[in-house]
Order: sequence, then structure tokens, then C-alpha cells
Amino acid sequence: MKYVLVTGGVVSGLGKGVTASSIGLLLQACGLRVTSIKIDPYLNTDAGTMSPFEHGEVFVLDDGGEVDLDLGNYERFLDLTLTRDNNITTGKIYQSVIDKERKGDYLGKTVQVVPHITDAIQEWIERVAMVPVDGKEGPADVCVIELGGTIGDIESMPFIEALGQFSYRVGPGNFCLVHVSLVPVLNVVGEQKTKPTQHSVRVLRGQGLTPNILACRSTKPLEENVKAKLAQFCHVPAENIVTLYDVPNIWHIPLLLRDQKAHEAILKELNLQSIAREPNLKEWTTRTEISSTLHDSVRIAMVGKYTGLSDAYLSVLKALLHASVACHRKLVVDWVAAGDLEDVTAKETPQVHKAAWDLLKGADGVLVPGGFGDRGVQGKILAAKYARENKVPFLGICLGMQIAVIEFARSVLGMIDANSTEFDPETTSPCVIFMPEGSKTHMGGTMRLGSRRTYFKITDCKSAKLYGDVAFIDERHRHRYEVNPDMISQFESAGLSFVGRDETGRRMEIIELPAHPYFVGVQFHPEFKSRPGKPSALFLGLITACRRSDTSLPNKGRLKKPVANGTSNGHFTVKSRENGHPFKSSNGSLNGVYSNGNGNGVHS
Ligand code: GLN
Repeated sequence: MKYVLVTGGVVSGLGKGVTASSIGLLLQACGLRVTSIKIDPYLNTDAGTMSPFEHGEVFVLDDGGEVDLDLGNYERFLDLTLTRDNNITTGKIYQSVIDKERKGDYLGKTVQVVPHITDAIQEWIERVAMVPVDGKEGPADVCVIELGGTIGDIESMPFIEALGQFSYRVGPGNFCLVHVSLVPVLNVVGEQKTKPTQHSVRVLRGQGLTPNILACRSTKPLEENVKAKLAQFCHVPAENIVTLYDVPNIWHIPLLLRDQKAHEAILKELNLQSIAREPNLKEWTTRTEISSTLHDSVRIAMVGKYTGLSDAYLSVLKALLHASVACHRKLVVDWVAAGDLEDVTAKETPQVHKAAWDLLKGADGVLVPGGFGDRGVQGKILAAKYARENKVPFLGICLGMQIAVIEFARSVLGMIDANSTEFDPETTSPCVIFMPEGSKTHMGGTMRLGSRRTYFKITDCKSAKLYGDVAFIDERHRHRYEVNPDMISQFESAGLSFVGRDETGRRMEIIELPAHPYFVGVQFHPEFKSRPGKPSALFLGLITACRRSDTSLPNKGRLKKPVANGTSNGHFTVKSRENGHPFKSSNGSLNGVYSNGNGNGVHS
């Protein structure tokens, strides 16, 4: 196993994740098999309890791991299926060491950061790196490790120490350190300044790690003399210094790396030149070109809670993007804060209310994503009602499906009090109820998490067709509540179809309104398995339905039929990584540096 470690210096939000994913992609393009590990030095054991508002979405893996959204980027970019152990946090490491200590495994010794925590980190990395994640047998050739945070952070110290020991242990030829840094330009002088990078490399060295490659973020390509200076002061050969200068969109990053021969430098450090081939990024390049020439737009209203932070719905945005590109449409996302649609807003701030409704009504399709807590629920219900009554294409995900069921119960079945017991435990029409797989009383561990099977109970339906007429599908879940199985017959006789269910038939997975052009709700999260070259079937269904309802477009009808998840359309088989995280809107600092500045945080 060969290791590429990606660290970041100077400031956070530099795009280590993009850089690490792009390196992985470039190595894949050279014919190598790649896996990845993300280290988050925070104390939380996992991302499950972290607020999407602060930290972006919680990404869910097949095995039910609730992990940092960067893992989603690796999965999409490299088409991998990672495990919860591919995300290391300080909390996980300490927990494993403390568990061992309690069991008496340290035989009375004093348990310390060095060597016990640092050993645990190294053992974890070595163990997880060997697990195949690309569907093939045997371990990958290269493991790309991204260390979160910035060099010099107190909380990353044990990881740096462990990785220093690790690089020494695996030895030269097996370890390559890529340090992502910033080369700012001071406006007055216009000179590219190397000092911040010099300092961060010095700190890195002081902590026992020597960079092999410098990836410098800057607005323009680095001047030759600046490279020479960096080489001299940082002891990194000039040919191992690449510039990640600003580009129209981040799909260019792997191309930038290739053009600057970053793969050659990495392969040389890893002694892999003999088995690697010249990188083949043909499809990637084609895709980058095509996506930047799209002009016919598709407008999707995203009716959510965290509309101020697109990272909170990162995978949904990516899935929409994958489907739009496959349909040759430029994605425009209109963020509608669910609360703004509600009647209370009409009274308090009528112009906000009107603006929200104008956005919703101007959209080609409506998407209500997942969520927890009752804020904005009424607004989401109104959005579902609008889409249902006006035959506007609608996709409801998890909570989005639950509110569609509540809306149907209220409007069509006349159950005015219908609700989820999550929001109103006393409701007389509990159409969505607490149905945990585990404990009914204990909050921790009651979530239905990870990959579960859905069987098509009705095969002649839109979703079954979109999935390619298969008998069942496996999608990822993250919820506690579900449609009340005792009320299904009432719903079905009023025209709401429960086309997909779990193996017991008691858990409702997919709803459809057969008489509507596209009204689909799903208890699972299809967005987590969407890939650029293999868009999620249901997102593709949504975008296709939007396109069909659009009669104004001159080229309507001459578009190629897109192909859903699981089948290659031959054209978009490359992986993409767009802006959004790591240019987190939450840290603001460098947001949009790689982006095309259209500000919707989606298409870059
Ligand atoms: N809050 C709802 C539940 O727990 C929906 C969850 C979600 O949308 N991920 O069932």
C-alpha cells in the first residue's frame, strides 16, 4: 500500500478536499486503484450529531456511518463505497483507546497520547486502507489521506505526530506528502508572497513531516521566480510545486494537476512509475467542456430549512446537478426558505412571503429535502400542495415524503389535524409515526440508518421504470419516523400509491400519484448514491419531467435520452466535484474561488 497524505497550511478552506479528490482521480486515470481516508481532528465521534447549519450536511454511508460531507465528495469523485471507518475523528480514536484501557489491555501501563493514541491512529489507517472500496477484490494501490484542519492546530497534533511516525515506518517510496498552501498577492505591490507558505512548511517540518509536493492556491499561475524561491526555502524541487490557480470551475482541478505533471511527481515519490500509464482524462475533459456550454436552464425550487447554507444540502445539489447535466440542462436552484411560504410570514413580512411564492411558482420543479424538527414544516406542506394541485414535478425526500403524505391526508382525506407524531404527538390523525428499528425509548441508536432494500410492490409505476424495471433497489436511509402502515388503505383508495415497501411490507418507501406528471416521495435518500456519470434515477425523473413540461424551449425534443443510475450513458462517466464545501459558505473566506461566481453554490 502506498500513501498520499494531503495537509493544509496558512488558512482553512483552501480546498484540501478538492485537491485530495483530484489527486485520487488523477491516479485512477493512470490506471491505479485508489481508496481514501478523511481525518477530522474534532472530538465528536461522528458527524451524526453535528448541525448542518454549522458543518454542512451529514453524509450517510451504506453501512449507516454518519460522516463528514467530504466522504461524499470522495465517493462521487472516485466512485467508491466507503465505510464509516474511512472517517477518523479524535473522538473515535480516543474511544477505542479508552475502551482498551477499561478492558485492561494496557496491562497497568500509563496510557498516553504518545505512544498509545499515535499507535491507535497508525493501526487504524493501516487497517482501513486495506479494505477494498471500489467493488474489486483485494486492497487498492494507493490510499489518499486527507488531514482536516490547518497545520499548527492544537487538535491535529497527535495526528501529525502519528503520521510522522507512519511515514518513517512505511519508508521512502511508499509515502508522499502533498501540502496545500496559499500564495497571496498583496494588491498594492501585486507580488506573489511566499512567506505564509514558508512558515507553514516550517511548522510542518518542526512537527516531523517533510512535504514532497507543494500545491499552492493563488489567483494566477505562480511566477517562475516565486517557484524558485519556494523551492529554495521549503526544500521542495521546483518541478514538485504546482499552482492551483483560479479556474472557472473546479472540474478543471484534475486537469490543472495533470497539465503540471503532478501525477509524475507523485508516482515518482511512490515508486509507481513502472505500473502507471499516462493519465486518461478524456471523458473528464469532454464533460467539463459540455457542462460549461449548457445554456437552457432548468429551475428547481429547493424548499428547505437551511437555505442560507448550500452545504447543508450538498448531496441533493450534486444529485440535481448530475441529473441536469445528463439532461443537457443548466441547473438553477431557487432557494425557498420553507417558513417564508407560511401564512404567518404573509402577515409579518408580506413582501418576503410574496417573493418566496414567486420563486416557487417560477420553478419548473419542486424539491423538498430531508430534515428534522418542525421549523418550516407548514411551508413545506404548502409547497407540496402547490406542486400536487398544479401538476408541477415534485420530489420529496424523507421528511419531504412525510410532509407530502400529511398534505394529502389534510387536503384530500379531509383530516385537518393530520400530522407526524414528530411534530404533534397528540394528533388525532397520526399519518407519520415513530417506527424505530431499535429502542422506542432511547434516542441514541433509534435511527434507521444506512442501506436498506425497497421492493416494488407496484411494478407499473414511474419509479420502477426509472430504476430500470428491477424488482428491488438498495438506497440509504436516515430517519426515525415513517408513514403509518395502518392508514395505507385509506390513502390508496384516495389515489396515493405506495409503490415501494420494505421486505415486511409495513415500511413505506416510495409514494407516487399516478395521475400526476411526476409526484414522487421517498423515505430514503437517493442523493447519496448519485454519481456524475450515473445520476440517481429519481432525480433524473424529476429533471426529465421538468423538461417535458417546458414547451418554450426551441430545442425541446432533440435531446438525448438520459440513462439512470447503474447504466453508463457513455458520455458522462467522469466524476465531478463542484464548489460548496470546502469553500464553505460558513467560513466565507475563500468561497467561490474555484467557482464561476454564479453564487448558487451548485454549478461550478
Ligand atoms: N425527521 C424525519 C424522521 O426522522 C425525517 C428525517 C429525514 O428527513 N432525514 O423520520
